[in-house]
Amino acid sequence: MIHVLKHVESITQHRDRTLLELGVASALFELVKAREVNLYKTSEHQDSIYITRVTHVGQDGIRYIKSEFDETEAAWPLTSRPEMRACVEESHIIRRQDPVTGHHIHCFPIGVDHRVLGILEVICSQPLNDEELGTAEGFLGLYRNYLSLLDYSERDTLTGMLNRKTFDENLSKILSGLNGRKAEAAADIRPDQEPERRQDDELRHYWLAVVDVDHFKRINDHFGHLYGDEVLLLLARIMRDAFRHQDRLFRFGGEEFVIILRATSEAEVSRALERLRAKVETYPFPQVGQVTISIGYTQLRITDSIPEIVGRADEALYVAKEQGRNQICHHEALLASGRLALRDKPTSELELF
Ligand code: GH3
Ligand code: MG
Ligand code: MG
Repeated sequence: MIHVLKHVESITQHRDRTLLELGVASALFELVKAREVNLYKTSEHQDSIYITRVTHVGQDGIRYIKSEFDETEAAWPLTSRPEMRACVEESHIIRRQDPVTGHHIHCFPIGVDHRVLGILEVICSQPLNDEELGTAEGFLGLYRNYLSLLDYSERDTLTGMLNRKTFDENLSKILSGLNGRKAEAAADIRPDQEPERRQDDELRHYWLAVVDVDHFKRINDHFGHLYGDEVLLLLARIMRDAFRHQDRLFRFGGEEFVIILRATSEAEVSRALERLRAKVETYPFPQVGQVTISIGYTQLRITDSIPEIVGRADEALYVAKEQGRNQICHHEALLASGRLALRDKPTSELELF
């Protein structure tokens, strides 16, 4: 009992999702004497559900698989794992014995507000007995309640998108991850390689876009705040549908949104953003009719701070507004073409539209 309480105490001290998940998986691993405990997250994309393993605790150690755009752990379609599919669809524990290893696999759904957000997989040499099942259910309950609180504090209440606080935390994590990779890259670089170039290659995948609704004040003035809010809600939905599940969408405040995306080339980013712009332009917003957005975007650099990145995207957004709105502008392209002057000092305070 004391042992269990110690785990509960250690889990509940965390306000960080990663530590919470590791705490839950480690506690179960120890308490039910599992061979392996894995935590999977589900994500939806274009009507299909995918699963990604985010935490692993096993006899080989503990591993947290970064969810922030980490592509080392692939996302599989839920249909490729029948027991997990059943677990999600039935929202019920599913048990199965692996015919090859003989191990007993238990899949528990992790649901919050009638949505299955993930699956906890407990692999043991023997099937879990009633007491162990009770322990697992108890820890899952604790995890669910905490997840629900965290989810609430991470999201904007109107659109359900990630909020500004979460943006800062996410971007800081990405930047420190990039800096970690920079250090690793520098450590094993051979003299005949070009460090700068190699570091740049590592970074090519991260982009940040700032989206601002055009003439939103007019929408509020003509139709009232409630219709303005409805536009924001619909925009959030259009954005969610337009991007991949790895891309992160935030409501930055007011009628401003930020997207952090991974892509292999600028062309891929501009295609995605242009697709969003066009979708919004043609969407029939009830009562309001046509709404347009302007977007400024930039590439993340290893030496960047958050204000520098947002400052660049914001400058590009400013140009998009100046050039007539309803368009996307790429900061680096604006610099190259001389339409934006290189700044000595980065923007330290964020001043969006
Ligand atoms: P621009 O094309 O230059 O961006 O013009 P704009 O009218 O959109 O200008 P600006 O970005 O300065 O205006 C934002 C307006 O958004 C001001 C504020 O009244 C409104 N707003 C901010 N938050 C909310 C909200 O949560 N709901 C509603 N309905 N309106 C909001
Ligand atoms: Mg605006
Ligand atoms: Mg604005």
